[in-house]
Amino acid sequence: MISRERLSRDIEILRTFTATPGSGVTRLSYTKEEALAREYIKNRMQEAGLTVREHPTGNIIGRMAGRDDSLAPVMTGSHYDTVLSGGAYDGVAGVVTAIEAAHSFKEEGFVPERPIEVIAFVEEEGSRFHHGLLGSEGLIGNLTKEAMLSAKDNGGICAYDAMKAAGHDPDAIPSHAIGKGDLHAFVELHIEQGPVLENEGTEIGIVTCINSMNYGHVTVKGRADHAGTTPMDARVDALRGAAVFMERFYALAEALGNTTATVGKMDVYPGSANVVPGEVAFTVDFRSTDMTRVKRMHDFVRESADNPPFPGISMEFHMLSEAPATDLDEEIQSVIETEAGALGFSTKRMPSGAGHDAMNMATVCPTGMIFIPSTFGSHNPKEFASEEAIEKGAKVLANTLKRLAK
Ligand SMILES: [Zn+2]
Repeated sequence: MISRERLSRDIEILRTFTATPGSGVTRLSYTKEEALAREYIKNRMQEAGLTVREHPTGNIIGRMAGRDDSLAPVMTGSHYDTVLSGGAYDGVAGVVTAIEAAHSFKEEGFVPERPIEVIAFVEEEGSRFHHGLLGSEGLIGNLTKEAMLSAKDNGGICAYDAMKAAGHDPDAIPSHAIGKGDLHAFVELHIEQGPVLENEGTEIGIVTCINSMNYGHVTVKGRADHAGTTPMDARVDALRGAAVFMERFYALAEALGNTTATVGKMDVYPGSANVVPGEVAFTVDFRSTDMTRVKRMHDFVRESADNPPFPGISMEFHMLSEAPATDLDEEIQSVIETEAGALGFSTKRMPSGAGHDAMNMATVCPTGMIFIPSTFGSHNPKEFASEEAIEKGAKVLANTLKRLAK
């Protein structure tokens, strides 16, 4: 039996391991808050009957032996790091439901045919080293030493050094890499982070694919001038040029549909109220599940840089990261749908607008995701998933794992 009490207690205790008490949950990887959460998660895995080990990146893995323990395991879990002043559910919901599923198996005396492994990933959010999905990248062996050395936190400490200081073994990552065939399947439960399930009153979301995520940097150069003495027609205002670009950028995403365009960070130079901006630097983020639309967005930004949309300005553009859209496994979607239906829960197949460790896992094994409804989205202290929603998610996850591990 899935225990709502244990699930709620785990969520409540894990939310106390924060660097910002009173202002949401801030649990960055390889910090003392993370170490406390790590201890708690390891203990809970042991109580659930799992044999616990640590991956060289710090990912925590608990294993339930299968009847045939030589078979490739079914893996489930999510991340337990957070953004700065984030909430108590993003990531953690997938960790505690995975542990609870295993705990219920132990209580029922259910022994799966295949081994089942529960994983709690480190550094998914990229909040500390500005390198998202680092834990799962390490698990599948795609994390190079160069990347760990160049991924630095705001204090200049790189991921490689922080990992070592926390007692992990980054040099052993390549020899522990999981490849195709090493896992039978991966399933991640996560809060939806959007309003769809909540608004529709749907109990379980079945993720069909994860958006392509693209993130780049644009610099617009014009000429700084006196804000009072320079007539409007004599200016080369970098910010005005950027504004024209941005309006077209947003409009294109709207026109394409199923596409988002975001400018989330901007610096204006010299940054004075009485000076015409001479330079503007900003980020562009664009996402879609459809790679044709992604290409249109990419081409638009590139062409704008080649032919700036305002006289006199110059534009430079470079991409910082590009992740293709990830289709999740059809069969696992059907299993989740069947199991949720058997429990009497309403379901909806839907894409994921946010990135997840499941993207990396999908490159090595059939992968599925279960969404549960949440209010106030995510990445803020108010994010919330009800006890009932988490319990329902845990039940669907447990039955899905049983089916996949047969
Ligand atoms: Zn998350």
